[in-house]
Amino acid sequence: MALVISVEEALSAIDRETEALGSEPLAVAEAGGRVLSRPVRSDVDWPPFDTSAMDGYAVLLVDTQGPGASVAERPGTVAAGDVPPPALVPGEAVRVMTGAPVPPGTQAVVPVEQAERRDGRVVLGEPPKPGAHLRRRGESVSAGSELLPAGRRLSPTDVALAALAGADPLTVHLRPRVAIAATGNELVPSSARPGPGQLRDSNSPMLASLCRERGISPRILPRARDDARGLAALFDPERDGSLDMILTSGGVSAGDFDLVPAEAERQGFSLVFHGIAIRPGKPIAFGRRGRLIWFGLPGNPVSASVGFRLFVRRALDRLEGVERPGPSRFTAALSRDVRPGRRETWKDAVFTADAGGARVEPVPGAGSHDIAAHARANALLRIPAGDGTLPAGSPVECILLETE
Ligand code: AMP
Ligand code: MG
Repeated sequence: MALVISVEEALSAIDRETEALGSEPLAVAEAGGRVLSRPVRSDVDWPPFDTSAMDGYAVLLVDTQGPGASVAERPGTVAAGDVPPPALVPGEAVRVMTGAPVPPGTQAVVPVEQAERRDGRVVLGEPPKPGAHLRRRGESVSAGSELLPAGRRLSPTDVALAALAGADPLTVHLRPRVAIAATGNELVPSSARPGPGQLRDSNSPMLASLCRERGISPRILPRARDDARGLAALFDPERDGSLDMILTSGGVSAGDFDLVPAEAERQGFSLVFHGIAIRPGKPIAFGRRGRLIWFGLPGNPVSASVGFRLFVRRALDRLEGVERPGPSRFTAALSRDVRPGRRETWKDAVFTADAGGARVEPVPGAGSHDIAAHARANALLRIPAGDGTLPAGSPVECILLETE
């Protein structure tokens, strides 16, 4: 097979061939999971004014010397949403509720639980520490500062930060528009009963669900037969303007009916690579026609899954403008001896972490068709090519199969 490259070379090629899509304005409440195309700055300080963190009394420290100090209570209560009250004067305490603006000059808040009201006065318990239960204006965020950088995928917490900063609407990158198609004469829909020699298409539903996990709603194209006419329909140039990526499965290895890469080239795609030195998933193909990206994933379900998670996901992150495109790798200790192969291998594994550290246990499985073993894994672990034994306890790189 021509154009076989290493995993790292494949990732660099994907980075090189993909660039961030355009952007659109989006209401902040809709923006979780999307990627910022412009940084978010705050137009306010946070907190926006000096405020109380407790229901209590705003006091001056000079009035709180020693347990049992007593101060006059200013009539009324300051609640959240009230305008800031007049400044505190020596000898008085002002009753303030959580989130209320405190009087200028306040040096501490004594919680109601540590104060007792007696005849218009307040008797305080232990003297408070300076600044106790006070939140100062701008102590978390100052107006004009950058809160979230361009390229950040927004978590729900990021959304809260953007909302308090007044960044509504936000500007986010467009979502990639993806189409999925399975190839193979043997395939029938998952709702059908396979006849002799047939099997159900499990890749299309899996790939669709992998896309949906990333917030992308893919289009599912009709299954294609392994002949020029069937395959040509996958690469219809009429679709060029309406798609950013086509994901096919099957038909990319060296068999007599593995015709997809040749057909992609005939339909105007340039083949960037065809074959990665990896197990499973070696025959994966990647091409491009203008701005349209094509991944030809192998038909074996585990290979298709691993190919998506390592490579397609990388391209999707790039199209979405993610600053550090995934998948992110972490290190865990191998739980038992493993024999490396001639190719870099990404094995199904179960990752656990406890006080003893992060460990990863390979899942026994029979190979790239064994989707049942793959379903028992929550991670993939990387075994570099080599000979001999990789002993238990060795640090290995992993990626999570659960959504990160
Ligand atoms: P291929 O990559 O086309 O040579 O297919 C490799 C293996 O994966 C064969 O056993 C196929 O029957 C199987 N296969 C291909 N496409 C799918 C699919 N969409 N769903 C499940 N298995 C498939
Ligand atoms: Mg096939």
